[in-house]
Amino acid sequence: MEDLETIIGLEIHCQLNTKSKMFCSCSTDFRDNEPNTHTCPVCLGLPGSMPMVNKRAIEFALKVGKALNCTIRDESEFSRKNYFYPDLNKAYQITQYDKPLAEWGKLLIDGDNGEKEVRITRIHLEEDPGRSVHMGTTDRGKYTLVDYNRAGIPLIEIVTEPDLRSPKEARKFLNKLRATLEYLNVFDSEKEGSLRVDANISLKGSERVEVKNISSYKGVEKALTFEVTRQRNLLRRGQTVTRETRHFVEARGVTTSSRSKEEENDYRYFPEPDLLPLRVASWVDAIELPELPDARRERFISQYGVSPEHAKTLTGGLKLAEFYEAVASEDPALAATWTADYLLGELNYRDFSIDAMPADLFRELLTLIKSDTITDKSAVEILRLILDAVKDGKKPERPQEIVSRLGLAKTSGDQVTALIQEVIAEQQAAVNDYYAGKMQALNFLVGQVMKKCRGRADPGHLNTLLKEILDKKV
Ligand SMILES: [Zn+2]
Repeated sequence: MEDLETIIGLEIHCQLNTKSKMFCSCSTDFRDNEPNTHTCPVCLGLPGSMPMVNKRAIEFALKVGKALNCTIRDESEFSRKNYFYPDLNKAYQITQYDKPLAEWGKLLIDGDNGEKEVRITRIHLEEDPGRSVHMGTTDRGKYTLVDYNRAGIPLIEIVTEPDLRSPKEARKFLNKLRATLEYLNVFDSEKEGSLRVDANISLKGSERVEVKNISSYKGVEKALTFEVTRQRNLLRRGQTVTRETRHFVEARGVTTSSRSKEEENDYRYFPEPDLLPLRVASWVDAIELPELPDARRERFISQYGVSPEHAKTLTGGLKLAEFYEAVASEDPALAATWTADYLLGELNYRDFSIDAMPADLFRELLTLIKSDTITDKSAVEILRLILDAVKDGKKPERPQEIVSRLGLAKTSGDQVTALIQEVIAEQQAAVNDYYAGKMQALNFLVGQVMKKCRGRADPGHLNTLLKEILDKKV
């Protein structure tokens, strides 16, 4: 059977990093605090309490709407979404329904077949519910605790059209979206649970499945890949895909069917009577956008002369882009190669973010490479020593200190020549073999010189130099 086209649409919940909650003045900085310490009558949903809109949250949402090329609605409206769940203390969530803040946008991504426009259906504002803390597993735990510190955190929900064609493309979309939100400074990607994704996924001509509960953007590709395979296998066996909601179990990397059927019309949406419609027409034009990822990528190419590929990588996150600009001054091309090709690899390997690498140490390392003081191999070694120190919670040594301590300075040209002469004197048999036309003898001699300088010479250069000296002797 031919592989059917994969169709994916995403709904992304993103916590806005305002200081206070969406409808009250409770602090949003709750992550290191005791449960239920950031609450008030409003976010606890006590009778008689009245919500007040957080102006900053609206401003942040408008920024996202503009950055994603949406049409901003002059007048949008809050609605109540009614359902019962212990973490939803009011038994309804204040959200936006038929009149969302922004609609019909687009985001340009690097798709599976080149550049691609992903359409944004809508962006709406809402409040985060509280958090259920299950004691034990969801189905077998003895009891569940509820923490309302999260209740009322401002969220935007971004809904895409079903324009994505593979799990990989979905990941790329999320990376681009995350970068855009970071550049706007409306979102902190490092806060746990700050980005949550639901995905609609179907194979062409077959029923659609909604996968909920993907709590990390890294999990999205995994969840979708599992789901594509599951649906393909069903169809291959002649069975059909059931239209349903499934949950992603991150620890096992699988999706499982949820028994409760959630239909949209069960929510009995109606306009929120305690809040006025949101009129933003006079406000939208004054909102200015900072430089966004695509613009910065173009600037990196024109200002620093870096390759399009490096520019794309280096602008893929705000902190990374800022790091590059902090180390680029002396030699932008060298800095681009060492940041994008070497440093990122070492960081990913350790599951570190760019914050782990102190920019001043990296700059010093680049100076050592540029001045030809150390080989590339030694530079990588130094990079690893610095990151390992960070990992162990120790203060990393400066690159120059590491070079002195380990004697990593490249052997000088005169020293290399002297070592070559030594090796020629010691290895007469190999030298004769070389003169007899045995090329592997040259490799052997290079190896001997390398051994003497303990690897601190450039092998290509050494090869040329050795050949020159031998050929002169004839
Ligand atoms: Zn509150």
